[in-house]
Amino acid sequence: MKNVNTEISTSKENDRVIEYAGLSFYIIYNTDSLKTDDIVFYDAVIIQAGDPEFTRHIITRIRGHFNPEHYLKPVLLLNQSSLKDPYINLIDGTLYSLEQIKLILPSVQNILLRIKDLTFTSSLSYEALIIQKTISFMYSRNIDKMKPNVDFNSGIGYNYPILSVNFSRKEEHQVLNIIKTMTEEKLITKEFHDSVYLCNNCTSGYMSYREVCPKCNSSNAVSQDIVHHFPCSYVGPIEDFKNQIDDELNCPKCNKTLRHIGVDYDKPSIVNDCLSCGHRYQDFNVKAKCMNCQFDNEVEELKKSTINVISITKKGQVMAVNGYVTTSRDLQEIKGTVKLDTFTTMLKYEVERLKQTDGKSNLAVLHLKNSGEAYSKMTTDLQKTMLNFLIQDIRKNIPTSSIITFYSSSTILISLNDLPLKIAKRLTQDIVDLMTALIETNFKDMVVSIDHSVKPVSNKLSGELQIQQLVKDYF
Ligand SMILES: [Zn+2]
Ligand SMILES: [Zn+2]
Ligand SMILES: [Zn+2]
Repeated sequence: MKNVNTEISTSKENDRVIEYAGLSFYIIYNTDSLKTDDIVFYDAVIIQAGDPEFTRHIITRIRGHFNPEHYLKPVLLLNQSSLKDPYINLIDGTLYSLEQIKLILPSVQNILLRIKDLTFTSSLSYEALIIQKTISFMYSRNIDKMKPNVDFNSGIGYNYPILSVNFSRKEEHQVLNIIKTMTEEKLITKEFHDSVYLCNNCTSGYMSYREVCPKCNSSNAVSQDIVHHFPCSYVGPIEDFKNQIDDELNCPKCNKTLRHIGVDYDKPSIVNDCLSCGHRYQDFNVKAKCMNCQFDNEVEELKKSTINVISITKKGQVMAVNGYVTTSRDLQEIKGTVKLDTFTTMLKYEVERLKQTDGKSNLAVLHLKNSGEAYSKMTTDLQKTMLNFLIQDIRKNIPTSSIITFYSSSTILISLNDLPLKIAKRLTQDIVDLMTALIETNFKDMVVSIDHSVKPVSNKLSGELQIQQLVKDYF
């Protein structure tokens, strides 16, 4: 049995490794290079955080990595200096001395335990990879809610801790697309936090708003008050009332001296003079110049986007544990299937049709229990090939009127229309046998476990509800 040290001690082999309670903590000093490759050999990382710039670099490197051995590693800061949000959300604790490892140990152990629950697969797309990363990080830290932080360095003005770290400032708007996909896939729910206005040309959020001349778009202008003299009704810019000698205002029309504002005159508005083209105008145009690409946006044409607080759903947690392979968009590329949305709509029409006729239609679900294990053994290309192969084989065995969709990368739904339940059940069993054979031939050492179930389509319940009832045991 491994000797579990009950006191904090330095490793005999490596003086930058601290051992305590059976765990190893790797210390990165701020005089080190920016390489973090070695961290995979240790349970946790301690960054000596004297230099904020260095600390940020190291945190970005670790959390921006695509290997879970890196990005999920517990990270602690030693002698935390003035490190501000958003990086503070990417670390797991701060220490003022190494002795405090004892205090923080339970939370590090907890993270390491939760990481053991997770399955890592090679994702079908970059988007799916970032999603897998996000839900894995949230699951391992037991984070239910992710709140965006105002961030001057963010391309969209807000930083989502584990999401934004994957993108450069210029690409950061993609974070919003990923949140959209995660919401569509029901991995998260979102609630409104703020609105941002992004450049129509490059989607950056850093704008300079200026009042400009409606004729030549120059912001080089001077403004002055318009004066309305009540006794003679004269209206004109205040310069018409001024003289060279004193501060008195005299009406150019009736020559009277103006006395009290509100009594004999007022200032109903202002007038602007463009110093570039000489145009005199009352109403400005407002333009938003992008500080990234310099495009001068009309404010009406800025892209309004919503910044949301996101919460992980039960499905999101289950997908983190089982391994998240793909978005439904990736699966749309598999020939012979339709989108889940389309499937749901078609089922809705089928329910309506069954109300008019006394036909019999069925809904089948097939769920590969250990799909995470299967996918983790495949490269992305092989996954696509396998899925295509599988669907083509299934199609050969069912009537052409049947519709197939992926509920997730491990769950397939098939609507078998105009067939007696008995036949639908037999066909589904055939498909299970076929899938089992296909997987066993390709993965010699894998035990296949496919759950399946077939239910007649009811004309009493909505299609969506019937799908939910069928898949609920798997999510
Ligand atoms: Zn721009
Ligand atoms: Zn002008
Ligand atoms: Zn007058």
